[in-house]
Amino acid sequence: MRRKLIAGNWKMNGSLGALAELDAIEAAATGTPGVDVAVAVPATLINPAVERVSAVAIGAQDVHQGECGAHTGCISAVMVREVGARFSIVGHSERRADQAESDAHVKGKAEAARAAGLSVILCVGESLEDRDAGRAEQVVTDQLARSLPQGAAGEWLSVAYEPIWAIGTGRTPTVEDVAAMHGALRARLRELAGGEADAIRLLYGGSVNDANAAALLGAGDVDGALVGGASLTAAKFVPIIEAAA
Ligand code: PGA
Repeated sequence: MRRKLIAGNWKMNGSLGALAELDAIEAAATGTPGVDVAVAVPATLINPAVERVSAVAIGAQDVHQGECGAHTGCISAVMVREVGARFSIVGHSERRADQAESDAHVKGKAEAARAAGLSVILCVGESLEDRDAGRAEQVVTDQLARSLPQGAAGEWLSVAYEPIWAIGTGRTPTVEDVAAMHGALRARLRELAGGEADAIRLLYGGSVNDANAAALLGAGDVDGALVGGASLTAAKFVPIIEAAA
């Protein structure tokens, strides 16, 4: 039985003051012991967030695929682990687009994160063009096959299905479309990860909010959510955590 995971992604938002939101998020996490709660904060906030809360897993939004070296501006998995991060997102579509990250980069990042002792949320998702052309499932499952880290296991890996056109737009796929995609991802995982496939959590992400969370979380093979905008305040994030309970 897979536990539900509700993960927030603050993206390039937040401040030391905004960490106060984590207090009520932690209270909600404590009140829903069957749900894992996580928040990926900007790198500058990882350590203060870790010092502030313990029932919410604090993580990074990206890590470099290497351990150290001449990579100005980059941060390694070892570095974020040292200051208390427990996981990292890798392969978010904003990074794939803005930083030209390939599936091979994403695979390397996931493997580096795992080697450093972090859990991983690996993101995949199709463009609107792919969806309209009827090739969404092919595109997304191929992306998964190319970016899946070696030794993928449910103990440390979750996969987030995030249709690019649903991120920050207020648009979501239908519950049926989400269930179909997650079913396709699960089937591909069975080919790629064998017996571990059924232990790997599949999250949905893209415009999740308090109004649609219960329906999306109820779809087949949906084991949680990756939440951007609605994770920035406890008022919006806590109802999503409660919807998962
Ligand atoms: P959103 O972002 O919830 O603001 O659509 C989701 C994400 O990018 O992870």
